Amino acid sequence: MILRSFPRLRRRRISIVRGGEDDLLSYTVEGDHHLVAVNECLLPAPDRALIGGLAHELVHIDTDLRMGWFLRELAWNRYLSSHWCRMREERATELRVIELGYGRNLLAFVRYAHRLGRTFSREHGLLYAEIGRAVRKGTE
Ligand SMILES: [Zn+2]
Repeated sequence: MILRSFPRLRRRRISIVRGGEDDLLSYTVEGDHHLVAVNECLLPAPDRALIGGLAHELVHIDTDLRMGWFLRELAWNRYLSSHWCRMREERATELRVIELGYGRNLLAFVRYAHRLGRTFSREHGLLYAEIGRAVRKGTE
């Protein structure tokens, strides 16, 4: 998946670990090591759903690596302090996931999250119906 869609990440140290508290998926950086935390409740999820969630996090990592550390700090601060920035960033991330061809995986992920009782607002990214529309548009 990294080779196909995220060539920039090929030489990076990226680990997938169990964990994450409230978030289903999240990522942190320790030095140059990126850790993607997958919540325990996602472990039984089908692969196609997990791939959708992972694609979302990998797009975040890829986007962050394109910035220098200064811009990245700025972006993280904005992300944490502004609801609007968070929303814009998450929506852009999901559009990129769809562009890369993981739209159906993203739909499967959101469906699985709904089954777990999670609800998503615009702050988490695109709404289910919006992803569906974008996926259909891309396959027409
Ligand atoms: Zn995100």
